[in-house]
Amino acid sequence: MDTKLQHPPEMTPDLALHLLQDGHERFQNGHTARRSLLQKVQETKDEPRPFAAILSCMDSRVAAELIFDQSIGDIFNIRIAGNVVSQHILGSLEYAIATAGAKLIVVMGHTSCGAVKGACNHVMIENLSGLLREVKISIPQELTENDDRTGENESFVNKVAVLNVYRSVQQILEQSSTIRQLADSGEIKVVPAMYDVSLGQVTFYP
Ligand SMILES: [Zn+2]
Repeated sequence: MDTKLQHPPEMTPDLALHLLQDGHERFQNGHTARRSLLQKVQETKDEPRPFAAILSCMDSRVAAELIFDQSIGDIFNIRIAGNVVSQHILGSLEYAIATAGAKLIVVMGHTSCGAVKGACNHVMIENLSGLLREVKISIPQELTENDDRTGENESFVNKVAVLNVYRSVQQILEQSSTIRQLADSGEIKVVPAMYDVSLGQVTFYP
């Protein structure tokens, strides 16, 4: 008997993406995996092996473990308004990839994002303004909406949200040589995605 068959397959970026896609399909079908969380606590207490890191918005509807039907110990879940990148976010991603061995980074924006709306409406609030400044950088890249370029135009907001995701991906690759080198060699992948809050549906971009 081939004993190799008894071991789980080696994690790869494509397998990690596949696991997220499978979990999302279960979420969408309403057939989430039945598992004991307390059992998962026991299984992961010494050696968790999270296979992916997901940078997404803190929006209450965008909970990565739920959307991708993952459990304790499965993923790094980094959430911040507008899924913007900063030095500490980069450091967290580098930990996930270079130290903990995750094979996939997903940057996931979402429709009807309050942070993007706030950026489009030039909201100014104490510390929030600095965060929204990061999102605002993507606004001039949006060239198709001419009539209403405010947070009231849902189509405009969602297009800016997509551009903001791509900007975060670009920043990760430009500002972390650790991540860029692993991505260049194919050891990891960095994948942009959007979550539609009205459909409960994730779209991964190539
Ligand atoms: Zn949001």
